[in-house]
Amino acid sequence: MAWFRTLTQFSVTKSSSIRPRNTNPFPLPTLASLAQFSSAPTHETPPVTQYAGLEPTKPGEKPRVVVLGSGWAGCRLMKGLDTSAYDVVCVSPRNHMVFTPLLASTCVGTLEFRSVAEPIGRIQPAISREPGSYFFLSKCTGIDADNHLVQCESVTDGADSLDPWKFKISYDKLVIALGAEASTFGIHGVKEHAIFLREVYHAQEIRRKLLLNLMLSDVPGVSEEEKSRLLHCVVVGGGPTGVEFSGELSDFIMRDVRQRYAHVKNYVHVTLIEANEILSSFDDRLRRYATKQLTKSGVRLVRGIVKDVKAHKLILNDGTEVPYGLLVWSTGVGPSPFVKSLDLPKAPGGRIGVDEWLCVPSVEDIFSIGDCSGFLESTGKPTLPALAQVAERQGKYLANLLNRIGKAGGGRANSAKDIDFGEPFVYKHLGSMATIGRYKALVDLRQSKEAKGLSLAGFPSWFIWRSAYLTRVISWRNRFYVAINWATTFVFGRDISRI
Ligand SMILES: Cc1cc2nc3c(=O)[nH]c(=O)nc-3n(C[C@H](O)[C@H](O)[C@H](O)COP(=O)(O)OP(=O)(O)OC[C@H]3O[C@@H](n4cnc5c(N)ncnc54)[C@H](O)[C@@H]3O)c2cc1C
Repeated sequence: MAWFRTLTQFSVTKSSSIRPRNTNPFPLPTLASLAQFSSAPTHETPPVTQYAGLEPTKPGEKPRVVVLGSGWAGCRLMKGLDTSAYDVVCVSPRNHMVFTPLLASTCVGTLEFRSVAEPIGRIQPAISREPGSYFFLSKCTGIDADNHLVQCESVTDGADSLDPWKFKISYDKLVIALGAEASTFGIHGVKEHAIFLREVYHAQEIRRKLLLNLMLSDVPGVSEEEKSRLLHCVVVGGGPTGVEFSGELSDFIMRDVRQRYAHVKNYVHVTLIEANEILSSFDDRLRRYATKQLTKSGVRLVRGIVKDVKAHKLILNDGTEVPYGLLVWSTGVGPSPFVKSLDLPKAPGGRIGVDEWLCVPSVEDIFSIGDCSGFLESTGKPTLPALAQVAERQGKYLANLLNRIGKAGGGRANSAKDIDFGEPFVYKHLGSMATIGRYKALVDLRQSKEAKGLSLAGFPSWFIWRSAYLTRVISWRNRFYVAINWATTFVFGRDISRI
């Protein structure tokens, strides 16, 4: 019943008694200079107003853990933090965590968007209940490690009447869990014309564009050539995300488009472009199986390097022009410009450098987890892959470590120097899974490419893939949504309304 233990660990959250919010977190306006912060260049027009934020915690108050980011790492950390020992403040431009392994399924309507978005208040209820705990819809713009302060700017997307404003938060402990950004390798036109698949709004954009193109291609007056272009979906990047998205898309075309868009069904095509082998981290046998299945489902696999991306076509290194109606970019990730700009030790590849306890050395009380961090070269440990299973386990480890530090009386700023941090973080890879559409998936349970172990492909793997992710979905509410969405899609097909 290990799976059930894992599942309950993740679904039970510590909640504490409800107390009224009786403190004003923004008591003093300040003119403090921002020059002391290490920060990324920002585009500040009009000028952003500066307000005070949360001041240093006082005796009698709980120490404050500030968490930057609400992804796999930050959310798993917040879930495990002992909120009787700490107040938790989360700063992130989104108020939910995205269950990324199922994000590709939302693009074609296999799952609804809300099924993969987990509100932070449900992951850590103290954030909405405790007087000293908060979620701030903002992005971090600077870290002043000497003064235990972070500089933030509100995110006012969609609120026309509000200009963004700045504020500061003092921390006792700071956890940087800012994730990574999609790599474009500096290729011209990618940012302007391609859609990345990382956030729920990306999946919404992909679905909207896919359905729009399907409908436009049916309208009288569209030339044959334009129809083919509109209905050509190109995916760049043959890693697990690119392959899973291509698989979902081909499944959607075979099962739903052929029936409901019969007039244009012969124009719809999916092309997957990869510079090397697809699914290079998987075993050769699984890779060959995936290639065969994808080809059978109508996905065209093209070996090539994208040189330039224009509005309706991309150009490969050998000069081939590929017209497209939808372009999805999934070629790996790297540290964001903000992470790169931080004046903190760096690991190979530009991630924030941490020691074996996920602590950033040379500064006090700063930790970093997930895709934005990596072991410093001096630890002799390799950089861990940018995976949810790494981020999640680092979040869990660090929550336990911070709880131990808090119990030992080291929760306040600059008070953990003499505390024994105990066992360092050790990562054990549990294997990889990827679905390839048409009720088929790959499951590779080897710890590394060279290691021996179980690797499976086909329907049993697909069943394992679905069961595993269903148990990993964080709340019972979303687990229920996912199960119902899957059942509805199986019986009635995918929802193709363009709302
Ligand atoms: C489509 C897709 C499918 C995937 N499938 C799998 C899979 O099957 N298995 C697997 O192991 N991994 C998978 N991954 C990888 C996995 O999602 C990442 O490794 C994981 O999300 C990393 O967690 P994180 O917390 O480090 O970063 P993220 O989850 O990316 O979270 C980063 C957080 O930081 C916030 N943030 C960014 N900038 C700022 C700022 N300046 N201030 C404040 N907050 C900020 C973001 O809004 C976000 O909340 C997938 C990824 C994608 C995109």
